Formats: sequence, C-alpha cells, structure tokens
Amino acid sequence: MDRIDALTEHFMSTLSEQDDDLSNFKQAVRDVASDVLAVEKNDPTWSANQVLRRIAEPDRVISFRVTWADDDGNVCINRGWRVQASNAIGPYKGGLRFHPGVSLDDLRFLAFEQCFKNALTGLPLGGAKGGADFDPRGRSDAEIMRFCQAFMGKLAPYIGPDRDVPAGDINVGPREIGYLFGAWMNAAGIYDGALTGKGLSYGGSEMRVEATGYGLIYFVQAMLARRNADITGKRVAISGKGNVATHAAEKAVCEGATVVTLSDTSGTLYAPDGLSQEAIRWVQEQKAAGKDLANPPKDFGAAFRENETPWQQSADIALPCATQNEIDEDAAKSIVDAGTSLLAEGANMPTTPDALAVLRKAGVTYAPGKASNAGGVAVSGLEMSQTSHRRFMTAEEVDAALKDIMKQIHDRAADEGQSGGKIDYARGANVAAYRKLAQAITAQGVL
Ligand code: GLU
Repeated sequence: MDRIDALTEHFMSTLSEQDDDLSNFKQAVRDVASDVLAVEKNDPTWSANQVLRRIAEPDRVISFRVTWADDDGNVCINRGWRVQASNAIGPYKGGLRFHPGVSLDDLRFLAFEQCFKNALTGLPLGGAKGGADFDPRGRSDAEIMRFCQAFMGKLAPYIGPDRDVPAGDINVGPREIGYLFGAWMNAAGIYDGALTGKGLSYGGSEMRVEATGYGLIYFVQAMLARRNADITGKRVAISGKGNVATHAAEKAVCEGATVVTLSDTSGTLYAPDGLSQEAIRWVQEQKAAGKDLANPPKDFGAAFRENETPWQQSADIALPCATQNEIDEDAAKSIVDAGTSLLAEGANMPTTPDALAVLRKAGVTYAPGKASNAGGVAVSGLEMSQTSHRRFMTAEEVDAALKDIMKQIHDRAADEGQSGGKIDYARGANVAAYRKLAQAITAQGVL
C-alpha cells in the first residue's frame, strides 16, 4: 500500500460507523480523499482542523414524512430529506430529486459532491441536496402539485434565500419548481429567492433550463482547446433523455458535432449519421409525456435498440448524462473499444471506480461531473444574484457568463491537475475545490 492509499484507508476508517452502509456516499468521499489528503497533511492548519472530515459530516440532515392524497382520495406516504452539508462559502445550495430509488445514501453523496462542485464555480454557494422517494411516473398534474405542496410544507422552515436554496434535479423540473415555489411563498408569506430554476414570469433566469447541458459542452470545448482540437465533426455518444442529456445534445449539434445516441433505461436511440434538432425535440417530448424512445419517426434516420446502452457505438466523446454509477467496468471497456478518447460527466458520479480505472489505463481523458456539470448550479447562482438585484440579464448575457464560468472551472481543474504534461481533471477539481473550502472552514473557527 502506498502512502496515499494508507492515508485514504485511515481516513475512511474515521467516518462514522453509522455511515457503513452508505456505499455511494463512501465512494464519493474515497474519491476526494485519495486526491486531497496529501494536500491536507501538508498544511498544519488544515490538518489540525480536520477539514475533509468536517465536510464529510453534514451540518444537518432533515428527514420528514410527506403525506398527500392521490386523485382517488387515497392517502399516500413518502419520505423526504434535505442534507445540508456545508454553508462555509455561501447559503446551502443544491437540487431536489424525486425518484422511487432515492435514499439517504444518494443524498449524502450528492450533498458532499455539491460542496466541491459549488466551490469550483467561484460563486458563493454552499452544498446541499434533497429529495423524496416519490415516483412521479404516471402521476397526474394535480397529484404532482399536491405532492410538491406537501413536500414543501415540511421543508419550508429550513430553507430561504440566505439559508438554503434548493433547485431541480432528476424529475424535478420547471413544473415542480413552480409548485414548490408557490408552496414556499404561501408558507413564508413573502416573495424571495428561496428556490432557483423558477419560471421566467416569476423571477427565474434565462438559460437555467439549458445551463447544465450547454455548460457540459462548453467544458468539453475547453478540454479540446487544450489539445488544439474542437468539437466540430466529432462523434458524441450521450446517455439519458432528460434535461442534461437533451440540452447537451442540442448544443453539441449547434457546434457541429454528430450526436449518435440518447438513451433511457429501456434502450438506446441510435442515429449513425447524427440526431437532428427535430429528433432531439422529439426525445424531449417523449420524456415529458412519460414515454420511452421506441418507434422514432422514420425520417429521423434513427433506430431504437432495446436494452442496449450507448457505449457500443463508435464515438470520439462519451457524455454520460443519466445517473450515478451507470458506467461500470464493462461499459468502460466498450467505451475504450469504441475508440472514445474523452469522457465528460453530465450526471453526478456516473462512472464507477472500476470503470474509471479502465478509462485511465486506456488513456481516456476524464472530466468529473463536479467540474463538467457545474453549469446548472452556476446559473442558479446567477439567478440568485438577479433576484437580489431585482434586475434580469438577457439570455445572451447569461450564456456568455456561463461560458466564462465553465472556462474558469476548466482552467482551475486543469492547472491544479497538471502533472508530467498530462492533466488529471479529477484530482485537479478535487484539490482546487478543497483549497477554497479549507480556507473558509479554517478561517471560521472550530464549529
Ligand atoms: N441539481 C443540479 C446539480 O446537480 C443543480 C443544483 C442547483 O441548481 O442548485 O448541480
């Protein structure tokens, strides 16, 4: 065992025994620990302050029952959470996820990651994440509204514009944010920016919907620029069919790339000559209607391949934009065999550690989601300042600011991750974010 492995193992053993079953959380912490512990040990103040150990123990975890009635009047019960990890550099900030598989493990890992992601944006944003084990599939609009109102009824006392500012995540989009925001205003009795991702008619920001997907492509463009390359003419395989995946596809096509796939859990939509903007819009409509991607219109030049993932298709660039741990070791081998030389994460932690080892060995350049998908939360940060100013930016201004922020995140990660002529973006992102958090945490005393 080398020194870094020994430090990491020791650190992992200091986590609370109560976290033993939280496998995703521990995966995320281990990944950061292996990169930053050597930096922490080198600084006596950071080391004495146990900075990483403090970030790994959230400030608080709020857990609550959500009771609501379905359209037939049946009483339904779900569990909701908000994990407030750290507000050392700004109000707690992070999305809400509604999915039957959501667990405290997921939200602990996501809140931990969010601290680092938000630090990388350069904006004053702390880290948090929340959600519920609620399955919105097949639910009517009225049921979604009642669920959001019941959820916010429990969450409202814990959030606010300077306290904690939730936003969307998987299955929480503009419609849900509208209902959640209405319910928060109703409870608080004031209008203020307690949520981001709001609609344009009531204080949202231009480009927030597009921001994560567009930001991912801006990040990839910055990576390619370092190699004196560009995205024009590149074949891009994308997984997912949600907000991040389809907006990344839209922007990639605008920039002259050939997007060969989008996907969902039932299979992959494969277009050998590239998906058109019309085909991408069709995918968005299917998603909104709760339908899968089978039977695309014939003139799209696309076929649906049941039970296949996008990773078998030959591609220069892979953008996993679905969910955590979607790329396992086998998928990583397929990505390598498909001739892919760059993988940037649109989802949070979609690549397992085993998969990452395969990609690294094969020399695939890898960008972690905490850097490459930070565009969404960055525009949330811009939404917060627009709400405070009571003055709104144009779409062009937000897009230019997003591009600039993604370039800065890229450069922070690249500069910190530089070693021997190569760039380790994962280490660079972890260390750059850690330094900012460590400075803030140690400056604020032992709390
Ligand atoms: N859920 C998004 C993320 O994973 C956005 C969070 C936000 O805008 O607060 O970063």
